[in-house]
Amino acid sequence: MTSVGLEDVLAWLREAAARIEEQREYLTQLDSAIGDADHGINMSRGFKAALERLDSNPPEDIAGVFKAVAMALIGKVGGASGPLYGTMFMEMGKAVDGKDRLDAADLAAAFRAGIDGIKARGKAEEGDKTMIDALEPAYAALQEAVASGGGVDVAVSAAAEAAARGMEATIPLVARKGRASYLGERSAGHQDPGATSSHLIIAAAAEAWGS
Ligand code: ADP
Ligand code: MG
Repeated sequence: MTSVGLEDVLAWLREAAARIEEQREYLTQLDSAIGDADHGINMSRGFKAALERLDSNPPEDIAGVFKAVAMALIGKVGGASGPLYGTMFMEMGKAVDGKDRLDAADLAAAFRAGIDGIKARGKAEEGDKTMIDALEPAYAALQEAVASGGGVDVAVSAAAEAAARGMEATIPLVARKGRASYLGERSAGHQDPGATSSHLIIAAAAEAWGS
């Protein structure tokens, strides 16, 4: 697959919503160890609202889809993750404005803009035990695949594997951002819920766009 269009992007988001629904209890369980036990509930509410918005008022292009998802996540999720993922989709929407199809390089550029949006808003860096720890390695893998001429399918599979490794690497970390940081050293030994949902979202793209 060399590029994705509007229908492919919608298929990805449906797959992501389905995976979040499947893993809702698990995400909440992870958040109960180092947070306030609502990450699965937040993500489920946000992605349901996003799908409802897309169904009731279908956007004309990919940018419109990302912006609709952003509005749903920002509007419907009370936790930190809603505005952060909302910002990611909003920035991705701006980055793909006017494009009917996205190749791997377009995806990497949009993803870069999305991560930068999260960082500008949440001020987390790699190693702080947040979603950034799954997202940055995923971006690096995406970018590497683009540099070696890989298609969308190859690029997103590499990104999903890197996100999984980044997610697992949050286990020993001490949280420096978000609610988990209130626990200090006691946050070590637990996988970050947001890094886990980030992996789910990227793995959904690999599933939806796999060859
Ligand atoms: P809340 O912490 O408000 O209850 P959620 O439980 O939905 O919100 O989301 C928690 C996740 O949000 C954390 O696991 C972490 O990955 C992510 N997170 C929290 N604060 C930040 C931040 N400043 N930057 C990036 N990600 C963050
Ligand atoms: Mg929480």
